[in-house]
Amino acid sequence: MKNVTHWIAGAPAGGSGRTSEIFNPATGEVSGHVHLASAAEVDAAVAAASAAYPAWRDSSLVKRSQVMFRFRELMHAHRDELAALVSEEHGKVRSDALGEVLRGLEVVEFACGIPHLLKGGFSEGVSTRVDSYSIRQPLGVVAGITPFNFPAMVPMWMFPIAIAAGNAFVLKPSERDPSASLLMAALWKEAGLPDGVFGVVQGDKVAVDRLLDHPDVRAVSFVGSTPVARYVYETGTARGKRVQALGGAKNHMLVLPDADLDLVADAAVSAGFGSAGERCMAISVVLAVDPIGDDLVDRIVSRVAALTVGPGDDPASEMGPLVTGAHRDKVASYLDLGVAEGAKLVVDGRGTPVRGGTTAADTPGFWLGPTVLDHVPAGSRVHREEIFGPVLSIVRVSSYEEGLELINGGEFGNGTAVFTNDGGAARRFQNEVEVGMVGINVPIPVPMAFYSFGGWKASLFGDTHVHGTEGVHFYTRGKVVTSRWLDPGHGGVNLGFPTGR
Ligand code: NAD
Repeated sequence: MKNVTHWIAGAPAGGSGRTSEIFNPATGEVSGHVHLASAAEVDAAVAAASAAYPAWRDSSLVKRSQVMFRFRELMHAHRDELAALVSEEHGKVRSDALGEVLRGLEVVEFACGIPHLLKGGFSEGVSTRVDSYSIRQPLGVVAGITPFNFPAMVPMWMFPIAIAAGNAFVLKPSERDPSASLLMAALWKEAGLPDGVFGVVQGDKVAVDRLLDHPDVRAVSFVGSTPVARYVYETGTARGKRVQALGGAKNHMLVLPDADLDLVADAAVSAGFGSAGERCMAISVVLAVDPIGDDLVDRIVSRVAALTVGPGDDPASEMGPLVTGAHRDKVASYLDLGVAEGAKLVVDGRGTPVRGGTTAADTPGFWLGPTVLDHVPAGSRVHREEIFGPVLSIVRVSSYEEGLELINGGEFGNGTAVFTNDGGAARRFQNEVEVGMVGINVPIPVPMAFYSFGGWKASLFGDTHVHGTEGVHFYTRGKVVTSRWLDPGHGGVNLGFPTGR
């Protein structure tokens, strides 16, 4: 049985009592326990980070980037081990888990360039013998609170840039798949990061609330569901912290009649069922513009029938189980709801065969196969609500305008995609759609590390998206220095407002 601890001051640190179960989603069995931090344990992690911060902040950019490069090499060397940990606790298939590790590593690679990213501006002679320059400085101790669905990648959206910029970072991972955090912590130590600069507190709301309350935590990055994102944003900012809180999603793919329907069907199935739909950038609604609906649904259904569902460590599996039994039950409840709301259940994932088992409904573990609901009524709960599982809804629309209105009328604005061969229509869509990340013939338009990731509306609370230059800005504060070296001709007292002449 695993016993997953905190990581404080450069070493594993046991908990003071409360724990939560970790499951193997493929069998439903308990594989270990994770400690749930008390407020005092959070305080210990923040104290260790506060103690480590001044020396780390003052270490040279060259030294910090060298630690980043070593961390990058170690993470690469341990990528399969990390992917295996993710897969066995989350349930996603190994290749998908490896993909998440590699996408996270791209942010580490971006952060290796911190000497360049922190370059300021310099203006010589803004006034007579006066120079001005801008610098960016770290904030101090910053915290990251992350969801279950990317236990390696989402923390890597945050801590590489925070640490490279000179902050100390405390991570509160999801309690459902916490082990990846400890391997990453051990690799930071091996890379030469001073103890305390990276800490991990395992836990639940108790740990989150203490991080939001702690006066020494200067900024909080959060990724998770919308209600908790809103709470974290409101609570953290009310306490004077800088907060970026990314929430849930309901991503629509708008398919225009001129699109290549084989490309669309491949994309919809990949983006709908990869990672069992437990991705914030998953496509969960296909808006099929008349008259292509029937043809497109046929192509989607034939591809879904060919998918192989099974345990994440089976190389033949393309889709694994869901993360917990409770989550699987919630997702499955939308199948009956959809039918009750008037949709047609064209593929029922409860009957999907599972490798090494029988059907999804009858195999031990948290199984639900890929599910397709057609003719989902626009505005129904199945259409509007985040399901976060392998359920793809097809909504029939009569025009581009009707499709756009449905996207823009939704609560969320995380990702979206348009499929068309008409460049003008695509260009109009990118301009008119109220969503933060847009794909044109690309179903999961996750920005690269050197751009910033984030949605609009209920998908993000705060002003700053994660990673890229916005990430650098989030973890630093700007300062402008105006300097004048004494000169015999300084001019004496002048009570007028300096004008730069
Ligand atoms: P969640 O909101 O339940 O949990 C996220 C984090 O908040 C976890 O660390 C958890 O321990 C903590 N938490 C949970 N309930 C809390 C509470 N009441 N008070 C304080 N803290 C609490 O989310 P999840 O189920 O782990 O992850 C899935 C959700 O995350 C989905 O809604 C998905 O769309 C979203 N997500 C969004 C993005 C994005 O970039 N926008 C990326 C990944 C996941």
